[in-house]
Amino acid sequence: MKDAVIVGGGLAGLSAAWRLRHWDTMILEAGHRVGGRIRSEKRGQYFLNWGGHVYAGAGSSTDELFRETGTSVIKVPGSLSGISMNGKLLLKGRIETYPFRIPMSMSARMALLRAGAKVGRDVLRYARQTGIRHGEPAEARQQRIYEFENDRSFSDYIGDLPEDAEALFRPTITRSAADPHELSAGAGIGYFSLVWNIGQGLDRSIVGGPSVLTETIAASMDDRVQLGASVVEVVHKQDSVVVRYTQDGEEREVEARTVVMATPATVTHRVAVDLDPEVRDALGQIVYGPYVSAAFLTNETAPQAWDGAYGIATPKRSFNVALNMGNIVRGSETCRQPGGSMMTFSPGSLARRLLDRTDEEIIDIYSKDLDTALPGFGDIIEEAHVQRWQTGAPYSFPGRGKLQPTLTRQGDRVFLAGDYLGTLYTESAVQTGFTAASRAAGVLTNERQTRHATLSA
Ligand SMILES: Cc1cc2nc3c(=O)[nH]c(=O)nc-3n(C[C@H](O)[C@H](O)[C@H](O)COP(=O)(O)OP(=O)(O)OC[C@H]3O[C@@H](n4cnc5c(N)ncnc54)[C@H](O)[C@@H]3O)c2cc1C
Repeated sequence: MKDAVIVGGGLAGLSAAWRLRHWDTMILEAGHRVGGRIRSEKRGQYFLNWGGHVYAGAGSSTDELFRETGTSVIKVPGSLSGISMNGKLLLKGRIETYPFRIPMSMSARMALLRAGAKVGRDVLRYARQTGIRHGEPAEARQQRIYEFENDRSFSDYIGDLPEDAEALFRPTITRSAADPHELSAGAGIGYFSLVWNIGQGLDRSIVGGPSVLTETIAASMDDRVQLGASVVEVVHKQDSVVVRYTQDGEEREVEARTVVMATPATVTHRVAVDLDPEVRDALGQIVYGPYVSAAFLTNETAPQAWDGAYGIATPKRSFNVALNMGNIVRGSETCRQPGGSMMTFSPGSLARRLLDRTDEEIIDIYSKDLDTALPGFGDIIEEAHVQRWQTGAPYSFPGRGKLQPTLTRQGDRVFLAGDYLGTLYTESAVQTGFTAASRAAGVLTNERQTRHATLSA
C-alpha cells in the first residue's frame, strides 16, 4: 500500500508531491506530460509559452517552492500596461492617462472617466477589506476576498458603457475566463486592484520558462510519476483509499493510506464518488471558462518597438493581450540579440469563438491581429503553435463565496488541492497543494506512531 497517491500532475499536484517526497508516493497524471495548465518549451535562449507565466513573489507559497526546488526567477521585466487600441500603440506611461491618449469619442471618454473613478474608489475599499490582517489565517482572508461584492455581476455593478469604454475595461475583466456578466463584481474589482497595484500580485517570471519548475519537480520524483494514467474512480475503504485508473488500455488500481486530489473541480466531482456529499455538490458548482493561447517564435534581427513591454492589452482583437515572453531575455542582455517570443491569450467569449476552428485558421487570425497591433510582426514569425484550454480557469461568480467553507472542509484521507480553491491561480495551486500535503502527512505520521506503539507494546 502507498502512503499517498497524488491524482493530477499539474502545479497543485506537484507541489503536494514535492512536500510528500520523503513518503512512499505515486503521481497519476492523465496527460503525456506534467504541468497541466503550465506549458512552455525551450527554443535556444527563448521559450514558447502557452499557460501560466507570471508567479507570486516574496512571502508566497510559490516563493517557498521556488527556493526549495532551486528554481531561478526574476521580476517580470518591462511594462505590464502596454495597450494597442484604435490605431494607437502605447507602451509607456500611467494607465490613468490612457483615456486621454487613445482616440475615442468625447462621450466614451467621459463615461470611461466616470467608470474609472467608481472602480478606483472600490479598489481602495477592496484593498481595505481584503488586505492581510496580522495573525489571521490565510483561509479567513481568502473568505473575505470571495465575499467582497459577491452578490452581483460586474456588468450589474458597472452598468452600460459606450463601446470604446467597455472595450478598454474588458481585457482586465475577461482574463478571469468569464465575461463581465458572468464574473462577480468583487472579482472584477479585484482584477483592477491586481493590475493597478503592480508588484503586489503575480510579478515573477521563471528563467527558461514555466515548465522548468514542473519538470524539475517531476524529474526529482523519477518513476513515481505515471503519465497517461487517467483516474476514473476514487473510493474509501475502512482505513485506506482505492484509486482506479486506466493506463495503456488497461484498468489498474492502487491502494493508499491517503490521496491528494489535484484535478480540476469538474474531474474531482466526477471521480471522487464517495466524498462528503456536500463537498461533492460544491465541487459540481465550480465554473470554468475556456482559454485559447498561441506561442510565436520570431526571427527579427533588429530592436522592435515593443521590446520594453511585457504585457500589451489589445481590446477589440481576437486575443485580449499579447505577452512578450522574449522580454525576459531582453531584461538580462547587454546588447539586443536576434529573435523573440510572443504569446497571445484569448479568454472567455474570445476563446469560444476560436475553439472550433483549425489551428491554421487560429494562427492566421492571430497573425493578422498581431500585425495590426504591433506593425511589422507578421514579417518576423518563424514558428507558431496553438493550445486550447477547455478548463482555462475557474472564476468567481456571484454566490461563489458561500461554497468556500464547504470546499475547504478537511477530509479524513482524501484531500483536495487546485487553483479552484482560491483566487490567486498558481499561488492558490501551490498553497492548496502544500496544505493537502501537510494534512496527508499528519495522517501518515499519526498512523506510523500508532503502528510503532502497537509493535513495541
Ligand atoms: C493560458 C493561461 C494563462 C495563465 N496565466 C497565468 C498567470 O500568468 N499566472 C498565474 O498565476 N496563473 C495563470 N494561469 C492559471 C494557472 O496556469 C493555473 O491556475 C494553474 O496552473 C492550475 O494548476 P492546478 O494544478 O490547480 O490545475 P491543472 O494545471 O489543471 O492540473 C490538473 C492536472 O490534472 C490532470 N488530470 C485531469 N483529469 C485527470 C484524471 N482523471 N486523472 C489523472 N489526472 C488528471 C490534468 O491533466 C492536469 O495535469 C494561466 C492559465 C492558462 C491556461
